[in-house]
Amino acid sequence: MRKLTKAAIAAAGLATLAPAAAAHAAPAPAPTLFPERWIDGTNGAEPAVQVQALDADTFVLRQSVHSNFEAPFLYLLFGRDKALLVDSGAEGARIVPTVDALIAAWSARHGGKVPPLIVAHSHSHGDHVATDAAFRARPGTTVVGLKPADVAAFFGVRDWPRDIASFDLGGRRLSIIPTPGHQAAAIMVYDPRLKILLSGDTLYPGRLYVPVNFLADDRASLDRLAAFARSHPIRAALGAHIEMTTSPGKDYGHEAPAHPDEHRLELPPTQIAELRAGLRALLDAPDIRQVHDHFIIVTVPPRAE
Ligand SMILES: [Zn+2]
Repeated sequence: MRKLTKAAIAAAGLATLAPAAAAHAAPAPAPTLFPERWIDGTNGAEPAVQVQALDADTFVLRQSVHSNFEAPFLYLLFGRDKALLVDSGAEGARIVPTVDALIAAWSARHGGKVPPLIVAHSHSHGDHVATDAAFRARPGTTVVGLKPADVAAFFGVRDWPRDIASFDLGGRRLSIIPTPGHQAAAIMVYDPRLKILLSGDTLYPGRLYVPVNFLADDRASLDRLAAFARSHPIRAALGAHIEMTTSPGKDYGHEAPAHPDEHRLELPPTQIAELRAGLRALLDAPDIRQVHDHFIIVTVPPRAE
C-alpha cells in the first residue's frame, strides 16, 4: 500500500506528530494501517486536527479531544471526478481549512483540477455534523441531508435500508450500506480499493450505543452487513471514535479529557460477527453494558430517531 509521505502532508500545511514509540503499540497482531500514533489529548501541543493518509487519495482526520471530548474521526476520499467527506466533525472543530488544504494539495497533483466536494454523514448525531453550515457556504460543495430519506435519495438507495447503493467518485466505486440502529440515517461506506469499511458509530472501539427501540433495526443491519462482508474483502473497519483503552474490555470514562494508551482505530472484520452475535442477546432494557474486548454494547432509552 502506498502511503503519503510526511513531506506531502507537510506540503498540505497539516501538522503531524512524531511517530509513537514502539512500546506504545497495541498488542494486536496485525500491523496498523497508520504510520503515526493518533493524537489522544496527552500531548498539550497537539494540533486541532491531525491528518493521516492511507494512500494519495484517502485521508483520515481526527479532531483533537482538546476541542471536544468526542474526538471524532472523519474520512476524505478522492476519485477522479469528485471527493467525498464522511462527517463534518463535532462542536469546536474547524474542519473546512483542513479539507481545503487537502483538496488544494490533491488538485496541485492533478493539473489544477478542483473536484466538487460531497459532505455526507456516517449518521446524523451532532458530533458528526457540527460544521455542515460552514461546508454549505463553501463553493463547489454539496452537503447531504440528515434524514434517512435524504440519504437514500442522494445515494440512490431504492429500498432503504435493504438496498446497498453504488456511488462512483470516478474510477472509485464505493458501496453505501444503510445501517440504521445507533441512529436512523446511519450508513457505512465500503471502499474496495483499500478494502476498508467506514463503520461510523455502529462499530468502533468504544461504546456502541443502541436505543432499545432500535435494537431490531441494529440487528437487521448487522445481518445485512455480515452478508456483505462474506462477499467483499475487508481489511479493517474504521469507525468514528475511540473510547477503548489497550486493555481488553476497558473503556475511558464518559467525556474523558485525554485517552492515554488508546486502542487502535482499526478493527479487524471478525468484529462484525462479534457485534452481530452480541446483539442477539437479550438487550431490551436501557443501561445494559455488554463488554467485549474491543467494544462495549450499551443500551440507551428509546429515542425519536
Ligand atoms: Zn458519535
